[in-house]
Amino acid sequence: MATQSKDFYRVLGVAENASADEIKKAYRKLAKQYHPDANPNDAAAAERFKELSEANSVLSDDEKRKQYDQMRKLGAFGGMGGMGGFRPGAGRPGGAGGAQTFTFDDLDLGGGGLGDIFGSIFGRGAGAAGRPGGQPGGPQRGENIEYAVEIPFRTAVRGGRVTIQVPVTEDCGTCHGSGAAPGATVSTCPECQGRGTVTFGAGSFGVSRPCPQCGGKGKVPSEPCATCAGNGQVRRQRAVNVTVPAGVDNGSKIRLGGQGEPGASGGQPGDLVLTFRVEPDAFFSREGLDVECTIHVNLAQAVLGSKVKVRTVDGQFVVLKVPAGTQPGRRFRIKGMGVEKSGRRGDQFVKVQVDVPDQLDESARKEFEEFAAAAGMRH
Ligand SMILES: [Zn+2]
Ligand SMILES: [Zn+2]
Repeated sequence: MATQSKDFYRVLGVAENASADEIKKAYRKLAKQYHPDANPNDAAAAERFKELSEANSVLSDDEKRKQYDQMRKLGAFGGMGGMGGFRPGAGRPGGAGGAQTFTFDDLDLGGGGLGDIFGSIFGRGAGAAGRPGGQPGGPQRGENIEYAVEIPFRTAVRGGRVTIQVPVTEDCGTCHGSGAAPGATVSTCPECQGRGTVTFGAGSFGVSRPCPQCGGKGKVPSEPCATCAGNGQVRRQRAVNVTVPAGVDNGSKIRLGGQGEPGASGGQPGDLVLTFRVEPDAFFSREGLDVECTIHVNLAQAVLGSKVKVRTVDGQFVVLKVPAGTQPGRRFRIKGMGVEKSGRRGDQFVKVQVDVPDQLDESARKEFEEFAAAAGMRH
């Protein structure tokens, strides 16, 4: 639910009457540009990539796009001021600050969940905006921010610290969240008469949503704050130091309480939920708590036996005894040198690859020929 969903057409930079082909092209181009693989440890790019995927998943599907267009026509995604987005946040009230989060994450987009989107905007969302009595204000818990963090293999295995940049919405420093320019007078919103919501339709078809003019605040300033364009909030990057516990793997999550979006009207901030992605390592791979690697020995070492230095995930070396007559592909175990997690430790498995020389100098060739003769072989 991290992303503050915006106008999907704007996210992909296409016109609202763009053809399916234009949408596909725009998505491919941007997805390539912001792909996490091309932007390691770039939280902003990761978020942009997620937005692109969301936008594409809806706009590339005829049926979903049609429904989305209908909602968009109703004004659900526009007219909210500079934040550029309607953010109802399924099941999360968001009336007071005006900035609600609309997210597709909560909805089953795979299985025709668009009906739920109507539910969240027009049902739960409306109920939240039009809280009992229709009073704007009251504490609102901030949004959770979900984030993918790429970490080196070794950090995942042994733990460590990483610093990430997380885009957060914060109260504007100039107007302290009011949205009013310094010295401006603040009066009751003429559009909603201070209720913070407006209603469309009538009777059981009536639908309310946050007032587009005041963004749900119920009040409008005579002059909007120039810093935040009257929003009361600004986006900025916040550096967060993350302690990575030992043993995390791809998809492991941690939750940092209170590190998410700030709450409104004195509400608690949301949480920061991080999902780890482990960068592949050139030497090690991982299988549960065990790590695996491959070492190379030459023919003589395999035949006669040898001692070989092997790197461990700690960055140390251990000496591995390769016994005489070691067959290619044989695996050796270095006990306790795997992943440590919850007091348990995996092992390191070392696979031996025997390199057969593809070029021989004159004397080596002679020796092999003697060996062949001794073994009764012809060549
Ligand atoms: Zn401001
Ligand atoms: Zn209003």
